[in-house]
Amino acid sequence: MVNTTALNPHEMALKNFDKAANALDLDINLRDRLKYPERELIVHFPVKMSDGSVKVFTGFRVQHNTARGPAKGGIRFHPDTNLDEVRALATWMTWKCAVVGIPYGGGKGGVCCNPKTMTLHELEGLTRRFTSEISIIIGPEKDIPAPDVYTNPQTMAWIMDTYSMTKGYCVPSVVTGKPLEIGGSLGRNEATARGTVYTVEEACRKLGINVEKSTTVVQGFGNAGAIAAGFMNDLGSKVIAVSDSRGAIINQNGLDIPKVVEFKAKTGSVVGFPGSDEITNDQVLELECDILIPAALENVITPENANKIKAKIIGEAANGPTTPEADEILHSNGIFMIPDILANAGGVTVSYFEWVQNVQHLFWKEIDVNEKLKSIMVKSFNDVVKISEEKNVNMRLAANMLAIQRVANAVKLRGIYP
Ligand code: NAD
Repeated sequence: MVNTTALNPHEMALKNFDKAANALDLDINLRDRLKYPERELIVHFPVKMSDGSVKVFTGFRVQHNTARGPAKGGIRFHPDTNLDEVRALATWMTWKCAVVGIPYGGGKGGVCCNPKTMTLHELEGLTRRFTSEISIIIGPEKDIPAPDVYTNPQTMAWIMDTYSMTKGYCVPSVVTGKPLEIGGSLGRNEATARGTVYTVEEACRKLGINVEKSTTVVQGFGNAGAIAAGFMNDLGSKVIAVSDSRGAIINQNGLDIPKVVEFKAKTGSVVGFPGSDEITNDQVLELECDILIPAALENVITPENANKIKAKIIGEAANGPTTPEADEILHSNGIFMIPDILANAGGVTVSYFEWVQNVQHLFWKEIDVNEKLKSIMVKSFNDVVKISEEKNVNMRLAANMLAIQRVANAVKLRGIYP
């Protein structure tokens, strides 16, 4: 997945902002306020490692914009994470919450580490100390973290516990994506994938593609990717190829996704799944298929491979998988794009439901969660399609225009303090 045209993700976010701001003819006095994060915290903190040594890690929490509500966004544990990546992800969270109309701003966090080489004990120590470092800016009314790449409900439980210990009482609403036992929401674990698949179904309907006769390819086989592959499989789509950080597999007759999930849980990778052939991580994106779901990291669809992409629909479960230049190529090749801030907004939407349940001390049934999610995803998809058709712009620009206008209205109404 290494490519020579990889853009700094924050530059990518700014380029897409400028395009939308120009298309909206946005007030010049609002532009910089909307472009740059309100607050950025960098922390360097020690963790006691299992061999007795002490290692210092670097972490970030960025709050991009809080005009529409508290900052909301995941925490990523990855060796390559850096301030610009976190800035970009925080920016996309602002637009994402606005595009689906939930009352949050955008935030994101990350710790530069390799969780694959760390023990559970070390990960717990890292999570707890990082939480304590960023506790000066997070809180149920201020900034509410959630899972992202290589963090999960257990990580959220440690964050919730650490924050609660310092407060002296239980504060479940400080994070979402928690285990059910401590205030998580039914349907949250599957929400990102479920939301992506709702938008893919809408796109299929629009393009006249029969989902039951379709083929799907998924890049990335974690929370977003593996569950999206499972849902596509349940809808009758043939999932012909999937990949993870160690490689990619294909079976033109369709992979048995629940079995691939079991295989990965046992072996740590999809590679070697019986009855599949191995292909490269680059090839997986270029396969003949109806639906391509990138669900790994940023910058994977670039001008180098955009012309080789044969999918009819791309549903971006990942954040920032397509560079702005690649976007233009895909659009001119007639590929229907469901952009990240729309396609993967199901996760933050059900995070919002989890937070609402926590602050009200209520629990909703899973069917209610999923129905409310579907209605938001379908409406948001159609809102974006409407702008795309009325203004004759591509789906990403339309989604950004909708979101940025909503945030701009909020910033303008609130004015400047003091
Ligand atoms: P995860 O850690 O559960 O899974 C990430 C997957 O990507 C793993 O299977 C990993 O092996 C794979 N991967 C890593 N490098 C790869 C590579 N070079 N090629 C192919 N696969 C690779 O993370 P996740 O939560 O599923 O997040 C994936 C993407 O979805 C990220 O862009 C994230 O920001 C986005 N996202 C996640 C959520 C959520 O609720 N989890 C919500 C919105 C967006």
